[in-house]
Amino acid sequence: MLFSDVAEYFDKIEGISSRLQMIDVLTEMLKKAREHEIKPLVYMIQGMLGPPFAGIEVGIAESFVEAAIADASGYEKKEVVENFRRTGDLGSTAEFFIGKKRLKRMSESKLDVNGIFGSIMKIATTSGEGSQQAKIKMLSGALASSRPLEARYIARFVLGELRLGVGDATIMEALSKMVTGERTFKERLENAYNICSDLGKVGEVFATKGVKGIENFSISLFEPIRPALAERLPTAEEILRKMGGRCAIESKYDGLRAQVHLSKKKKRVEIFSRRLEKLTPMFPEITRAALDEINAEEAILEGEAIAYDEVSGEFHPFQETIQRKRKHGIEKKSEELPLHLFAFDLMYINGEDYLDKPYEERRKKLESIVKGGGTIRLSDRIITSSPKEFESYFNNAVEHGLEGIIAKDLHSRYVAGARKFSWIKMKRSYRGELSDTVDVVIVGYYFGRGIRAEFGFGGLLCATYNEKKDVFETVTRIGTGFTEKQMKMFKSILEKSKVKSKPARVVSNIEPDFWVDPEYVVTVKADEITLSPMHTCGLETRADGTVAGYALRFPRIVSDGIRGDKSSEEATTTKEIVEMFKQQRKTKLSDNP
Ligand code: ATP
Repeated sequence: MLFSDVAEYFDKIEGISSRLQMIDVLTEMLKKAREHEIKPLVYMIQGMLGPPFAGIEVGIAESFVEAAIADASGYEKKEVVENFRRTGDLGSTAEFFIGKKRLKRMSESKLDVNGIFGSIMKIATTSGEGSQQAKIKMLSGALASSRPLEARYIARFVLGELRLGVGDATIMEALSKMVTGERTFKERLENAYNICSDLGKVGEVFATKGVKGIENFSISLFEPIRPALAERLPTAEEILRKMGGRCAIESKYDGLRAQVHLSKKKKRVEIFSRRLEKLTPMFPEITRAALDEINAEEAILEGEAIAYDEVSGEFHPFQETIQRKRKHGIEKKSEELPLHLFAFDLMYINGEDYLDKPYEERRKKLESIVKGGGTIRLSDRIITSSPKEFESYFNNAVEHGLEGIIAKDLHSRYVAGARKFSWIKMKRSYRGELSDTVDVVIVGYYFGRGIRAEFGFGGLLCATYNEKKDVFETVTRIGTGFTEKQMKMFKSILEKSKVKSKPARVVSNIEPDFWVDPEYVVTVKADEITLSPMHTCGLETRADGTVAGYALRFPRIVSDGIRGDKSSEEATTTKEIVEMFKQQRKTKLSDNP
């Protein structure tokens, strides 16, 4: 498939405002591709060069791209820079200069998907001495032999700014339609995706082996499994009721989630984050311990890495554990503040898939392979049917500096990649406040007015994720409480992700000054959730005939800035807001009977 065809489809997708139309265009494009082109094409649609755990970063510096555009078109770099200042988008600048290029150094070759993907991969992965010049040269070569529209997308891709606004669920529906003609096979594709976290691979298997290939999909060691997530409820009684009267409750450690993959034969250990990035170098002590302290030839297990004071038995706050997220001096840090891994689940052992086994069986097996007492320990837990015992376990956990508890359904399988009631969290922050914090996705922002004009930033329009519809629904405008530093930070980050019109997956009745690609998550606290005719989160006709959605009242940002550990699809869902609203109403009723 020619890259010029891909560019035409990308251009079409950019102009689409409905998700269903987007699926149709994607399906048509995928159908045009040959089997071996599906994988790179899926990565391209995701704006990536591989799955997240491969760690191949796209995103070369703007100045390299400017130099390459100048070189490929025969114009001065300063002319390119000047044009970019006006367009704010190097993709459009590349398109403009390639469209009127002075040099015809190369005859226009017909670039195909694999060719372009390979070139961009090479540009992204070239490193070492002289690599900057080499990158510019390679990019200039690719741009010089491309057509203007292709140049637009090549430039955006290498910058890591493709921003087509296509979510994984949309890609899966298109893949489903490509092979079966229906969107309904998406669920099974999702199962495959959940156990390998590689949508390119899923697409390729589906395209080459069809339905059978997907149904026989199995876990691969060193490919991370998408993490199971917890629902939330505020009281022991409600959790026990939901769990059928009896459940396990585990301490909720406030550290970094770590999925450990181990092969003793290969003497290899890899550790993946909640967002499926490979973080092995960050955890040298856990990597070493995995080889010594786990009694299995091969295993995939999950736990929370946290700084823990063995002498006092106290857990350090999250801010101290997170210091590990750095590039240099990790060995030293690991001596000063060693981390422990509190293992809480087991997904695979010695060739056997444990995902479908009930929690209790997985836990028993985990207990049999974790020696304990060293760097790797088991998460603390009890099994109970008594609300009183539940409460006292919770209080004790909080006194020890833990975040709260996670209740686990004894009979449930490991539900990869989904937030389900098989795990329910109850946090100390639920006490004495109306609701938990909410993680919202930024979908737009406002000009600064008055004294904020100098920052060019005046607030955010934020949304929840509706996982059923795979869209983002607005839930709040945040206009106050920003520090100067935050305003500058938001302005500089959001300016880069600005898009011309409302992204197709955003559902909104409010028009912000600027729309942005829904990719950034912030944590907010609010006084309460109210019904609102303005917002689209949970918008429906109510019993009294009014049409209303949900809104956060008096929202303020509590995260330092953008939450880097969550993607937009991992933000709080509309369904969770509906649940929180119900909880809040119950609490109010019991406060004012
Ligand atoms: P939060 O910000 O509340 O941690 P989250 O969206 O990151 O929420 P949830 O799935 O809602 O994640 O809550 C479970 C998280 O709690 C896991 O991602 C994990 O990192 C952490 N955790 C700590 N202790 C445990 C435990 N014993 N079992 C499962 N998860 C645990």
